[in-house]
Amino acid sequence: MSLIVQKYGGTSVADIARIKIIAEMIAAEKESGKDVVVVVSAMAGETDKLISLAHQVTDEPDDRELDMLLSSGEVVSIALLAMALNSLGYKSESFTGPQVGIITDAFHTRARIKKITADRIHKALKEDKIPVVAGFQGINEQEDITTLGRGGSDITAVALASALKADVCEIYTDVDGVYTTDPRIVQNARRLDKISYDEMLEMASLGAKVLQIRSVGFAKKYNVPLLVKSSFKEGKGTLVTMEDPEMEDVVVSGVAYSKEQSKITISGVPDRPGIAAKIFGRIAEAGLIVDMIVQNISENGLTDISFTIPREDTKKAMNLMSGLAKEIDALDVNVDDSIAKISIIGVGMRSHSGIASKMFAALAKENINIMMISTSEIKVSCVIQSKYTELAVRVLHDEFELG
Ligand code: ASP
Ligand code: MG
Repeated sequence: MSLIVQKYGGTSVADIARIKIIAEMIAAEKESGKDVVVVVSAMAGETDKLISLAHQVTDEPDDRELDMLLSSGEVVSIALLAMALNSLGYKSESFTGPQVGIITDAFHTRARIKKITADRIHKALKEDKIPVVAGFQGINEQEDITTLGRGGSDITAVALASALKADVCEIYTDVDGVYTTDPRIVQNARRLDKISYDEMLEMASLGAKVLQIRSVGFAKKYNVPLLVKSSFKEGKGTLVTMEDPEMEDVVVSGVAYSKEQSKITISGVPDRPGIAAKIFGRIAEAGLIVDMIVQNISENGLTDISFTIPREDTKKAMNLMSGLAKEIDALDVNVDDSIAKISIIGVGMRSHSGIASKMFAALAKENINIMMISTSEIKVSCVIQSKYTELAVRVLHDEFELG
């Protein structure tokens, strides 16, 4: 029999009315003759509420206790959904992550799944029940509850789909698929029927918030087809899947942007071996993640190095770099936090040329200055002033005829 995993996000279980609606959707799927395993998030806003409770107790809540607390959000929604299914006349049982053997490493609040035993799920399916599993949580080898990082229910769903060898993992959310760009910015943005894992990874990391990024990596690794759909309106959704030759015909499949970074520039850096290693060694030791790096050609033995980091790490990075500047005799450190990164993405770039220049020309026509550029096989990203983000997104969406 075919088996599907369905994951419903926080907005899909936001209140009792929504829970009843998705119970009907799950029931309909079951009626069509499939085995269904459901994964749910906490009701919308609940995880934030729990985090804020913890911070009312202490500035630095213990990670183990935080996980215990956060895991309770999903426990509420699984029980309510199983009750809703029962009251429609369907046999359903709710399970926590530990109950279905989602074994993780020991890193509280950002644990990774190591193994899934899923015994209780198999048993429930055999008894023709609909298992409803709490997303976002697992158990480590010390038998402590762990959570998988914000948005982690997507990971639970993908990992379960892989472990159960499901035909597809359906991710229900409040948008009806993955779009060529943010529809709030570009009116004629188009829903994509299909997108490759690699493109989705780029889109997800560049700020398109439909899917949790680690879950996409996981889906790619284990070749789990993901279908992103809305639980609010009917539609075909977007299939995230393995690349096929057809996909290469489309040169650019999407335009993504992110306003969540800052640019730090260290100027007057002595241009000698080992300096970059020192700068980024310091950043790495602090666990900060650098995205783009640019080094200028040197003049009189001095150069400038700029890099971007997540905005919330700006202060930390500035403190580190100000200290380091003195050690390495650099002249100055400054920060620009009014930047945005704008990117075009498409597997077709592998086999087409002239894409980057087309992007630069389109931005130039609008007098948008490019501060940094980076490329990969399937994307070109530019850092620009953030006030031009919306304009740049529109211009590029038009230029590559995505509408
Ligand atoms: N409830 C968790 C969060 O808000 C997990 C999830 O929604 O996927 O991050
Ligand atoms: Mg979520």
